[in-house]
Amino acid sequence: MKIALIAHDKKKEELLDFVSKHKDVFSQHELFATGTTGLRVNERTELPIHRFKSGPLGGDQEIGARIANQELDAVFFFRDPLTAQPHEPDVSALIRLGDVYRIPMATNIGMAQILIHAIRRNEF
Ligand code: PGA
Repeated sequence: MKIALIAHDKKKEELLDFVSKHKDVFSQHELFATGTTGLRVNERTELPIHRFKSGPLGGDQEIGARIANQELDAVFFFRDPLTAQPHEPDVSALIRLGDVYRIPMATNIGMAQILIHAIRRNEF
């Protein structure tokens, strides 16, 4: 599967811990990420990741374009609902495209746990 990873700044540690914990699953798939998220995940786990631009500089839109081209299968988007983001329109657009193309997208750790277990069991 082609899996995208995105985390807002205050959620990056949570995503790093999550990917580390499930490294055995993520290592079996092709990973994509926004710039800083991808860098940090790669530093922590050494998993190979295709990195787009940083989110505020267009990375969310690049991932949205991949969704529109049906080139992504799942998205882990650890968003921060308590901090205003300068690129909020891009965030909304990304989530919207996920819904348009019915892409499984976890936007918090609770849904992420369910999604990773489904991926682990190959339930797609
Ligand atoms: P980043 O972007 O991984 O480059 O920090 C994430 C975001 O804010 O969308």
